Amino acid sequence: MDYDIVIIGGGPGGYTAAIRAAQLGAKAALIEKDSLGGTCLNRGCIPTKTLYRNAEILNTLSKADDFGIYVEGLRFDIEKMQQRKENVINQLRGGIYNLLKANNVDIINGAGSLKDKNTVEVINADGTLEELTAKNIIIAAGSKPSKPPIDGADSEGVYSNEDMLNFKKVPDKLLIIGGGVIGMEFAGIFRSLGSRVTVIEFMPGILMQVDTDITKRYSVLLKKQGIDVYTSTKVSKIEKTGESFIVHTEGKKGEASFEADQILIAAGRSPLIEGLNIDKLGIFYDKKGISVDEDFMTNIEGIYAIGDVNGISMLAHAASHQGIHAVEKIMGINKENKSPIPGCIFVFPEIASVGITEEQAKESGLKYKTSKFLFGGNGKALALGETDGLVKVIASEDDVILGVHIMGPHASDLIQEGTLAVSMGLRTEEIRGIIHAHPTLSEAFHEAVLGIEGLGIHSMPVRKR
Ligand code: FAD
Repeated sequence: MDYDIVIIGGGPGGYTAAIRAAQLGAKAALIEKDSLGGTCLNRGCIPTKTLYRNAEILNTLSKADDFGIYVEGLRFDIEKMQQRKENVINQLRGGIYNLLKANNVDIINGAGSLKDKNTVEVINADGTLEELTAKNIIIAAGSKPSKPPIDGADSEGVYSNEDMLNFKKVPDKLLIIGGGVIGMEFAGIFRSLGSRVTVIEFMPGILMQVDTDITKRYSVLLKKQGIDVYTSTKVSKIEKTGESFIVHTEGKKGEASFEADQILIAAGRSPLIEGLNIDKLGIFYDKKGISVDEDFMTNIEGIYAIGDVNGISMLAHAASHQGIHAVEKIMGINKENKSPIPGCIFVFPEIASVGITEEQAKESGLKYKTSKFLFGGNGKALALGETDGLVKVIASEDDVILGVHIMGPHASDLIQEGTLAVSMGLRTEEIRGIIHAHPTLSEAFHEAVLGIEGLGIHSMPVRKR
């Protein structure tokens, strides 16, 4: 069968690209070897956030007496939690299937590999072979969990994030290798479910991409939550002792060992390149991913690589954005690809950022201003009983908003106003004149922006000497 665009991989990058291609009148096929929705829907964003909600409810109930509500005999049912998670996934997966069908995208259930510049060979789920030809091919094959070379990492009971999502029992002692986004999200969820959680991180800090004003405060909260974090620490060996483990480490204070019932390896993800046959076509790639230009085209004309497989961002919304951009480019729509990519971290409380951090501003030698507004001064946050955290805004000397960093309730929803500001290059005075409804958490962003010009209403005035 001949197509305008053939897409390999049905994750958020691939399926979004397929729908956009169909909207623009292209004849499109989407090849998926596993389940529609990819890592994000089946093993990533959605299952973790469904479980995050369970954790959030438990955390709220654990402080119900602050609200004058007394809960006795609190217990939870893991089977039901898992069932709810599966229901959410199934509903969304069915929705993607229906959308693709309604847009006349051909869905091919099989594993695709490149035969030549215009041909994809598919081994269908039933074992038959099929060839699809296309003027343009988009590789959207995603990524897989990276496994650090640790002695004992292959032992039974050492989990990847994908195995961990299907837990049947809450471990008493969970040790997480990796203090990045995935590791810290699991730490928060399992601590809320009752595990004693230890995080071992090789780097000098956790969540290294986040502004340090946020990570410093988050580290204090982690201590309060009872999550132990060891940074600049390397796991040297995992030893299985019956049903549990001893994890040997080398850190700042020398060698140490930790007991654990379960281990989660959350040491990053690497592009899923195997099986695509990209070597045969001479497509350039390195260990971070397939190399692409600003339109996500590889060094081979007409072959694109979007989402996790190109290693640029490793976020679902970036994959979708890149898919749309590549398809539009193919269909003759030339647009600049300039939106900043917001990032959200579903820990307690949520963290979300967009644009530059203060460290990046310093490193680039930029003259900049910062302003912070604490959620403790926001009426809605007080009413919710969620006052931990802040909004931090970074602006240029002439008040253009360059970065927004939020830790606090609903940070993942609040960041969008910051994304709009950074993406449009808005100045603080343009946000200043916009009415923010009261009482809302969004007022904290407004106040942080006002603070750049020293005009915050609910902050103490800056003393003039
Ligand atoms: P994927 O979603 O990985 O999809 C690729 C698809 O291609 C897969 O379905 C795969 O089966 C298929 N495929 C691969 N090779 C072939 C082949 N040869 N033939 C046919 N099909 C093939 N991101 C966020 O933005 N927010 C979050 O909250 C978030 N949470 C996460 C939590 C976890 C635990 C994990 C692991 C990831 C999380 N992510 C999150 C990251 C997000 O899941 C990825 O960035 C996103 O899924 C990338 O989309 P993609 O389309 O590039 O690849």
